[in-house]
Amino acid sequence: MSDSPLLSVEGLEKHYPIQEGLLRRTTGHVKAVDGISFEVREGETVGLVGESGCGKSTGAETILRLSEPTGGTVRFDGEPVDDHDSEARERFRRRTGVVFQDPNTAFDPRMTVAESVAEPLEIHGIDDADRRRDIVAELLEGVGLGAGALDRYPDSFSGGQKQRIALARALVLNPDLLVADEPVSALDVSVQADILQLLEDLSAELGLSMLFISHDLGVVREVCDRVVVMYLGEVVENAPVEELFENPQHPYTKALLGSIPDPDPTADRSRANLTGDVPDPADPPAGCSFHPRCPAVIPTEGYEFEDGVFRAVLDLRLAVEGGEIDPEEFDGKPSVRDAYDVPATLTDDEAEAELDAALDELLDGHAAAAADRLAETFTTVCERENPEPRTDENGRVAACHLHATQ
Ligand code: ADP
Ligand code: MG
Repeated sequence: MSDSPLLSVEGLEKHYPIQEGLLRRTTGHVKAVDGISFEVREGETVGLVGESGCGKSTGAETILRLSEPTGGTVRFDGEPVDDHDSEARERFRRRTGVVFQDPNTAFDPRMTVAESVAEPLEIHGIDDADRRRDIVAELLEGVGLGAGALDRYPDSFSGGQKQRIALARALVLNPDLLVADEPVSALDVSVQADILQLLEDLSAELGLSMLFISHDLGVVREVCDRVVVMYLGEVVENAPVEELFENPQHPYTKALLGSIPDPDPTADRSRANLTGDVPDPADPPAGCSFHPRCPAVIPTEGYEFEDGVFRAVLDLRLAVEGGEIDPEEFDGKPSVRDAYDVPATLTDDEAEAELDAALDELLDGHAAAAADRLAETFTTVCERENPEPRTDENGRVAACHLHATQ
């Protein structure tokens, strides 16, 4: 066994052009995946997590070359998966199995289970029909379905059973890497645990490496050795699973952890929850793209803020900039402050004077002036600079200004 990773993703990028008008001019790009790097070692299960819309599926599709990346490199077993080298691509395809979220759309309903599962064998030149049937029967056994399933049609099975069949098909060429994109998210809660257990058992038994994609950190904890956290097309943290859960470094990871439903009502509720939505990747926020939602956003230098107050002031600022505040709906400055959890007075006199002046401007109908004043006064390094991913002495990766200054 070599020491180099089985899969190595370096600066992978997928930008979709936005085309408008009759001439379909490109007016911008959706940066669905914007330079992600990570590795999957032999026998390792790596989780790729993040909220919906963060670019996980696009990442998987470009890694698998189901769609062409616009930048970066993918290496499999040290060998670049090159667009121009069709043999290398073919080898890579053969050694990689894929399972998607929805087992209901995974099969041609006119083909029997045996035909569907055997299809990759046929494509890859195993001509002996009896041999194909034997391989498929054994695999179906391995995923917990009897040989009785062979001649039935996929639609006669439940969602969980169909996902087992999809798994059998993904494994039929005996791959080294399995990519599973939200493999249990579309399934009934009652069968999710069974499928996760099956994935774990199979990966151990077959010595499989796995890239396991999920929006649910709770699920990732069950099956993964390492976790890569994505936010808006970028990797914000990468750590072994236990370390990630015990000592998360990135505020986004902390917020994701905070939003896992906790069965223990006495548990520590101080962990921040995620509020708001993932921004549009066609127009990502400047600097660290998490800063508009980040509970730990770094306050303006030179002013003093009590805990959490800068976050509240920044929320107010962003709402003014976004034209979200209608002065008619408010009954004076205190009610605006109240609506954004900004205290009645800021502890810092200078900051207070600027905020108060901006609120006067806002309520007098000069929203643009208020926005300018707030933007000049309440700035943060988090909007000015995009933090580079930094690797600490233990090999943990995090991309956060807080992490960089520690
Ligand atoms: P996830 O799997 O994490 O939910 P996706 O990879 O599906 O995220 O999507 C990431 C972003 O890329 C989303 O904003 C999505 O709308 C956008 N996107 C995905 N496919 C395309 C496409 N073909 N053209 C334009 N934008 C796309
Ligand atoms: Mg997805």
